[in-house]
Amino acid sequence: MPELPEVETTVRGLARFLEGERIVSVRVNRPDMRRPFPPDLVQAMTGATVSSLSRRAKYGLIHTDRDHALVFHLGMSGRWRIDPEDADKHDHLVLATREHVFALNDPRRFGSVDLLLAPELDAWPPFAALGPEPLGDALTAEHLREATQGRKQAIKLLLLDQRIVAGLGNIYVCEALWQAGINPRKAGGRVTMPQLRRLVPAIKDVLTRSIRDGGSTLRDFAQPDGNLGYFATRFHVYGREGEACHHEDGGTVRRIVQSGRSTWFCPVCQK
Ligand SMILES: [Zn+2]
Repeated sequence: MPELPEVETTVRGLARFLEGERIVSVRVNRPDMRRPFPPDLVQAMTGATVSSLSRRAKYGLIHTDRDHALVFHLGMSGRWRIDPEDADKHDHLVLATREHVFALNDPRRFGSVDLLLAPELDAWPPFAALGPEPLGDALTAEHLREATQGRKQAIKLLLLDQRIVAGLGNIYVCEALWQAGINPRKAGGRVTMPQLRRLVPAIKDVLTRSIRDGGSTLRDFAQPDGNLGYFATRFHVYGREGEACHHEDGGTVRRIVQSGRSTWFCPVCQK
C-alpha cells in the first residue's frame, strides 16, 4: 500500500516529465475507480498545461494553467506507469503529452481521481480537517503537545490520526516511535516534552530516508514500463517480530495489535 514516501516519489517522478508540458489527450477506460471519474475531467484536462505538481498527505496534485488541479489517490494498489509498453486492463486513466504517456493503473481500484478548482482545495472535505504535513515546519513538538494533551489514547494511535499529523501511516509511525524511544502504548498525554522533541525529528528522518530510497529508483523511470512509486526500504522494527533490536540493547522486537493494526516495537528501549 503506497504510503507518504511512495506518493512523494511518484509526484517527483511525474513532475520530471509533466511540468510545463501540455496535455494533448485524456482517456478514461471505465466510469470509476473508488468513485466515478469527474464528468468534466476529459474536457478540463485536454489542452491544459501542467504548471506544477504537489502532494498533500497521501494525495498527489497535478496543477494546470486553467487554475484547477487533478487530485489523485493511489488507494491500496495504484501506480502511475510512464510510457507503458503495452496497455493493461487496469490502466483506468491515460494522459498523454507530445512525448510521453502516463497511465494510472490500479488493479483493486481503491484509488481516486478528482478535479478541483484551485480556490476550492483547502476546503475540500478530505483536505479540510488534515493536520500539518509531517515534513513541513508546522509539525513541531509544541503542536504535538497541544494535540495530545490529556489524551488517554495510545500515542501510536494518535499519530495515525490524520487531524493530528497528515499522511503518516502505520509503518512510519512504528519506525519513528522506535527511533525516538517511545513506547507505542503510552497514553498520548503522558508522553513527555523531551520525548516529543525527539519524536518530531524522528518522524521527519524516517520519511526523508524512505523518500531518498525511493528517489534512487527514479533512474528507472526512463525505462519503458517504468512503474512509479514502489520501492524497498529497510526498516528497524516494522515486520521484524522476534528479531534483535537494532539498538543492540538485548531487546527483541515484539508485535502487538492496537485498534486492529499491528505495531512493532522494542520493549527495552521504548519507554
Ligand atoms: Zn531496543
